[in-house]
Amino acid sequence: MKVEILGCSGGMGLGQQTTCYRVNEHTLLDCGSGLGNLTQHELLKIDTIFLTHSHLDHICFLPLLIDNLFEFIKKPIQVYALPEVITTLQEHIFNWKIWPDFSTLPSAEHPVVAFNEIQPWQPISIQGITYTPFPVEHIVPTCGYHLQSDTGRTLAFTGDTTYGDAVIETLNRLGQLDVLMTECAFPDRLLELGKVSKHLTPVMVKDLVNSLNPAPHEVWLSHLKPSQQIEIRGELEKIQLKTTSLKVLEPCTSFQV
Ligand SMILES: [Zn+2]
Ligand SMILES: [Zn+2]
Repeated sequence: MKVEILGCSGGMGLGQQTTCYRVNEHTLLDCGSGLGNLTQHELLKIDTIFLTHSHLDHICFLPLLIDNLFEFIKKPIQVYALPEVITTLQEHIFNWKIWPDFSTLPSAEHPVVAFNEIQPWQPISIQGITYTPFPVEHIVPTCGYHLQSDTGRTLAFTGDTTYGDAVIETLNRLGQLDVLMTECAFPDRLLELGKVSKHLTPVMVKDLVNSLNPAPHEVWLSHLKPSQQIEIRGELEKIQLKTTSLKVLEPCTSFQV
């Protein structure tokens, strides 16, 4: 599977866009401002979106995407998310005040977007890849996604999460991962903020990855806060992992997993 990093920052700034990854041209993991790196022609190919949670940095370009494509959409764009996330989007974004309710436009029978409720551990197969939602631990209802290609390659994307016994147990349940894609929002001096806001810092990333059995082959990190990213990168360089290579993601890069 081809995974493109459209946005991987924890904030905004020149060259900094928020979480959005594209899988095999047609599927998005989250819909942050990184989506703005695609051309209109590329946007037209998007037919499936998996959301991890409702925080603005992960959903902010969903309303604009639907509006951009409105007159061209022949089949509804399928959005998959936890029931709580869908309710939040409907109540607070697609409420006719912030943005129209596109799930009823141009008609309720033939809308341009369809919201599909997912449940942890219930897999969804889309064009050769099986997406299995799994629970993580963040400050609002959030899930990660385990991707398995039909060639057996595996990637787990945690979305935003902190770590603890439950997260470790979940990631271990996923089995051998080729790639663990997770976050590192804050430097270690903000460890308490990381715990309270349920994100990760470098020392938490180290403890999390070293607790995994089997260890993932690679760990990809994102969501660094722009104002602290030099500090976070410096701390990450000093991390000792047992068997896993670690990299900080850069926008507008792509990988074959
Ligand atoms: Zn979040
Ligand atoms: Zn976030």
